[in-house]
Amino acid sequence: MEFQDKKIICKDCGNEFIFTAGEQEWYAQKGFSEPARCSECRKIRKAEKQDNNQDNIRY
Ligand SMILES: [Zn+2]
Repeated sequence: MEFQDKKIICKDCGNEFIFTAGEQEWYAQKGFSEPARCSECRKIRKAEKQDNNQDNIRY
């Protein structure tokens, strides 16, 4: 299977981002579906999730 760079519109910020061939290959190997958000928004969401987890541990 051949992968090609793909433009995706981020669900959160509406910016266009490139889902690169290399990323697509990695996602396919892991069995993940393609991302709906740009890497920046994914980073933010991940950070929020970690904060929530830390809160759960703390209390
Ligand atoms: Zn975004």
